[in-house]
Amino acid sequence: MPLRILVVEDNEPSLNLMVYLLEAFGHKPLPIDNGEEGLKTALREKPDLILCDIHLPGIDGYEVVRRLKAEPNCRSIPTVAVTALAMVGDRDRVLEAGFDGYLSKPIDPETFVEQVEAFLNLGHPPAPI
Ligand code: MN
Repeated sequence: MPLRILVVEDNEPSLNLMVYLLEAFGHKPLPIDNGEEGLKTALREKPDLILCDIHLPGIDGYEVVRRLKAEPNCRSIPTVAVTALAMVGDRDRVLEAGFDGYLSKPIDPETFVEQVEAFLNLGHPPAPI
């Protein structure tokens, strides 16, 4: 089943790669290149999942996720940081800001879509046997 995935990324080659891969697997990406518009689009479209870069012009990814998670209608949308941050502690900061998960760049085309799809199960634990 195709997923509507908002992709917020200001680096054009990265954005194009994510869009290409998601479409190749039958999903419906909504590409946006800045934080403000990403936030507005999330509120309006209620996508199934959001992928969001951290370093963005205007409001950054931390601010996008903070505002998003403050909205009752958007709180449950899995929101995944996609970023090259590699320093110790950054992962905690990403999760503390409200992201549900983290994917590190560079994107691995072989596994990217599978990793993205795995985040959809967040907050929906399997039913007990
Ligand atoms: Mn960026």
